[in-house]
Amino acid sequence: MDLDPSANNSASAGNKSSSKRKTPIQHVRNIGIAAHIDAGKTTTTERILFYSGVVHKVGEVHEGAATTDWMEQERERGITITSAAISCNWTNKGGLFANLPHTINIIDTPGHVDFTAEVERSLRVLDGAVAVFCGVAGVQPQSETVWRQMDKYNIPRIVYINKMDRTGADYLAALESIRTRLGANVHPLFLNIGSEEQFSGLIDLIEEKAYIYKDAQGMTFEVTEIPAEMKETAEHYRTELIEALSDVSDKIAELYLEGKPIEANDLRAAVREGTLKSSFIGAIPGSSFKNKGIQMVLDSIVDYLPSPADLPAIETEQDGEKVSITADDSHEPVGLVFKLMTDPYIGKLVFFRVYSGTISKGMVLRNPRTRKTERVSRLVLMKANDRIDIEAAHAGDICALIGPRNAVTGDTFCGESMDVSLEPPTFPEPVISMSIEPKSKADQEKLSKGLQALSEEDPTFRVTSDQETGQTLISGMGELHLDIIRDRLIREFKVEADVGRPQIAYRETITTASEGEGKFIRQTGGHGQYGHAIIKMEPAERGSGIVILNEIVGGVIPKEFIKPTEEGLREGAQNGVVAGYPVVDCCIHIVDGSFHEVDSSELAFKMAGIFAFKEAMKQAKPILLEPIMEVEVTTPEEYLGDVMGDINRRRGQIQKSETQKGVVLITANVPLEMMFGYATDIRSLTKGRASYSMKPSHFEQVPNNLLSKIVETRSKAPARS
Ligand code: GDP
Repeated sequence: MDLDPSANNSASAGNKSSSKRKTPIQHVRNIGIAAHIDAGKTTTTERILFYSGVVHKVGEVHEGAATTDWMEQERERGITITSAAISCNWTNKGGLFANLPHTINIIDTPGHVDFTAEVERSLRVLDGAVAVFCGVAGVQPQSETVWRQMDKYNIPRIVYINKMDRTGADYLAALESIRTRLGANVHPLFLNIGSEEQFSGLIDLIEEKAYIYKDAQGMTFEVTEIPAEMKETAEHYRTELIEALSDVSDKIAELYLEGKPIEANDLRAAVREGTLKSSFIGAIPGSSFKNKGIQMVLDSIVDYLPSPADLPAIETEQDGEKVSITADDSHEPVGLVFKLMTDPYIGKLVFFRVYSGTISKGMVLRNPRTRKTERVSRLVLMKANDRIDIEAAHAGDICALIGPRNAVTGDTFCGESMDVSLEPPTFPEPVISMSIEPKSKADQEKLSKGLQALSEEDPTFRVTSDQETGQTLISGMGELHLDIIRDRLIREFKVEADVGRPQIAYRETITTASEGEGKFIRQTGGHGQYGHAIIKMEPAERGSGIVILNEIVGGVIPKEFIKPTEEGLREGAQNGVVAGYPVVDCCIHIVDGSFHEVDSSELAFKMAGIFAFKEAMKQAKPILLEPIMEVEVTTPEEYLGDVMGDINRRRGQIQKSETQKGVVLITANVPLEMMFGYATDIRSLTKGRASYSMKPSHFEQVPNNLLSKIVETRSKAPARS
């Protein structure tokens, strides 16, 4: 066990490293630490950084000094929102990888349901996870949500039962709740010695040894025989572990059946095999707060969680042909941008996972989304709050690029000769908006700068301006999402701003084809104004936005006025004719028009475009669309009727319901308008036993009986979305 925090420390900014790979890919672990809010994710991360030598002083969360909590706002809220990636080093003293230095990259996973897209993206770039549970509460609703997301991505994990020092802590009961509520095949690798105030050490069921902490702060421990009074219990759980591993490994099954002794490393190899296949999950008890169990978690990360080389190749396409992206340093580089952050000292950091090849300083990479190339001017590794300059990042590494200007979260960067995308660039329509206004004139410029930086970081956050009121509107995926944006504006960009009430982001569209004519003709003294455009439009597929096709022939509208006409059409589409909401999913053809040698101007054609759009839209049987959420509820079977009934009352439509071990997973589509207050309602309906998550799914027509109410409210409300 490595107990000397300074031994691994190389965290001074500006350190240079050579471009050769330092850590073999088999010795890299990209992991997430996933937990219900308050289970101890921050404290655990903090202790991991401490023991692995990145930080010398252990910051306490309740004092607001935790290293991973970069942003002040997170300190205040006590929840970790951003996906910072932090690297540290760890060397196991025994086990499968004895004395081999490992690099552990911790990718912070946000825990709130409003950030599902972000959670899912961070789950994509990590290879394994430590799922942290509270030893008193066991499985809590949010841990259930994150767990199911990890199931979806098949992420190998280990379980860490934290807070064993708290009153009411019960390791085995917590594991039982994971088994029954999450259906997981979880088994103890370690047992706790004592609990609550008496929690004093751990029993290693594989080594058949006890680790007894020497001081209350848990800085050192002694390796001893298993205490006599726990021998029987330890024997029982070791046998149970071996039986469970017999299902994973034939070798263990044989040795066990023949009653032969089993080597510790054979058991570890079986735990690793089962973990990588996601058929077995090992558990460790501990108290991050009291520094107990952390070294065992670090050892288990190295022994049991996968390296990037353990993953299957990623299958994607280039020019219609299948390509496999493999974790090989000598291939063309390919990687994914999973987070953008603005660093006060070095500017924009583009957090990046290299899937293939080697990326080095000064290299030019292609971004298939923008079809442009960008130079990587610097590469850095984040070590808590320090940054270390590196010369190169290799397959499987996580690092931050400095240089690319036009990167957004979800972008792929690849070698110049390649053209592959790891994640389709989808930018979902936001579902909630609010108006935002600077408190003073002086704040105006800072506000627009801040909003621009934030919308680059986060593709689900949008900024628009209302044509009629001139107000700036911010839109996003949920209330908390926008709350956090506002806090960040105040803290990071020092902008004082007022915001309006959250509003549902309705959209408008058309249902039939139509035509429209727009004329802007003024004769006022000298120079007049002349713009004239005729358009046809028709409904387009959901999600296609506004598509404009120029079909002008013979120069009836001169080339230079086409663009202004298009601008006018887009401007017209920002406020539809039903209730002034943005118009989506319609295809517009500019088919005819006329001009005047002297009087025609860009402005006149822009106005003609706006008028043509409004007229055509009125004829096209316009409708109002509302955001529909995909809601996933997990409830014990006994509340199924109540939960379903409640979903029906919310105009919801059940899509699917699956029962597994007494727990039902319901998937339903429910209008966002009906989801306000759901968290409280479902809690009281199911005595807190059900959990849910939701994400925007699609837009649907608002039923006629509700339309007039929305239009009426809208005409009274100053804010437009
Ligand atoms: P997060 O929300 O999951 O990041 O949880 P934090 O790490 O912020 O911890 C939430 C609270 O639980 C803080 O007040 C911590 O001090 C406390 N806490 C964390 N780990 C332990 C532990 O092992 N024992 C006890 N008693 N408290 C803990």
